[in-house]
This record gives sequence, C-alpha cells and structure tokens, in this order.
Amino acid sequence: MFGVVPKPLWERRAPADDRNRIRLSMRPLLVRGDRTMIVDAGVGDKIDAKGVEIYAIDRTPTLSQSLARHGLSESDVDVVLASHLHFDHAGGFTRRDGSGRLVPAFPRARYVARTAEYEDATHPNERNRASYLAENYVPLREAGVLDLMDGDGPVMPGVRVVRTGGHTMHHQVVYVESGGLTAVFVADLIPTTAHIDNAWVMGYDLYPMETLAFKRAFIREAIDREFLIFFEHDPEVAAGFIREANGRRHVEAVAVA
Ligand SMILES: [Zn+2]
Repeated sequence: MFGVVPKPLWERRAPADDRNRIRLSMRPLLVRGDRTMIVDAGVGDKIDAKGVEIYAIDRTPTLSQSLARHGLSESDVDVVLASHLHFDHAGGFTRRDGSGRLVPAFPRARYVARTAEYEDATHPNERNRASYLAENYVPLREAGVLDLMDGDGPVMPGVRVVRTGGHTMHHQVVYVESGGLTAVFVADLIPTTAHIDNAWVMGYDLYPMETLAFKRAFIREAIDREFLIFFEHDPEVAAGFIREANGRRHVEAVAVA
C-alpha cells in the first residue's frame, strides 16, 4: 500500500500484522440528491473462501446493513458510479442469484463507468489481471444497465467525475458540490489518511509519476479551498479536511453518519 516508502516509516502510520497486512476499509459513498447514488460498492460477496482468508475480509457491517441505517436498500439506488473497476471497488456491483447466475446487485440502477476503464478492465494484462475480474462488470453490460462515459463531466446535478490516471490509466475521482462547498471522493488517489504526503504512492499504481503529479496539484487545492475529502480505504477516518502547518500535513477528521 505504500510503494517505495520504507516499512519503518509507514508502519508508524499503519501497523502491520504478522502476515504483513494492514487494516483497510472498503467504504462506498452514498450521495442523495436529484437521485440516490452510490460510488463504488466494495468487494461484494462473490469472493471465495481462499480470498476471504488471504485478505481477512470482515463484512461488518455489510453494505446492505449500511444502506439500511439510512432507510435504504439496494433497490432504492438509482445510480452506481465506478471510480475504477478493480475488484475491491466493483465486486459489489454484481451478485449471484438463487440459480448461480450473475445479476446486478442494485436491481433498479443504471451503472456508470468510464469507457476506457471498461476497455482496460476487459483486456487485462499480466500486471493488472488479478485486480480486474470480469464477473464484476461484464454481466452489467450484458444486462444492458451499464452506461459508459467518455471524459470528465457531470453524472447527475452536483456530481461530476475527473480523471486522475495514476492508479489505473482511467481512474477517476468524484466531486460533489452543493451550496458553495466541495467534497471529493478520492478513491485510490489518496486511499487513506496515511497517504496525504505527495510521495506516499501505492505500489499497486500502474503509473506512479502520474499519481504524484495529480496528487501534488490536487492536495494543494484541497488544502487552499478546504475540500472535504472522503477516504475510501482508511480504517478509521471516513472523511476530513487536509490541513497544513509548518510544512506538515494532517487530516482533521469529520464525523459522518
Ligand atoms: Zn482500492
């Protein structure tokens, strides 16, 4: 998760277990506006027992339980938006029905992904093959519920996507703007609060120099304009403001429901 950053440095921010694993969350973002939208949907429940063991996946709470806390179920979601199509973000997009058939997990929703990300996800190579699992998105295409979007722009009023590249060639972040305030769901651009320093870039990133360039400009703006940042993979902090004092950064956490 920390690329070239030496372990003695990162383990102060993210202690590892005896198998060198750190705690991470998979926390989608619920946006309620014109329509009800969810951004990413975690790993889902199709992953096999071996995968559950390797990643020590703990589904408490499940996505269904989290939605229920807001009085919602999967069938209330109108739009499912993908930051990118890696399994820890898109796994929850589909599920197996009683007969084992892969079906959309959000039965009424339109799903939105970037055209070029879908292209890459359906043409994986040796480096990204383990992250792109067709079962998470090809069934959406076949069901006719996947809308592929070219370039940056609005997904619904107040919500727009911006390509970052870096993590994958077409990884994107999601801006939510309302009443003059800006919140940004940064997905794998800044996966946890431990990644707020520019050079703390994941080893998973296909194009780390692109991540660095985007992060450098983005975090500067996020500090200056006080963007509320949503950290999808942070084990504790769902959202916060990045602050800077005497050249050092920290996150001022904000409680979210
Ligand atoms: Zn991720």
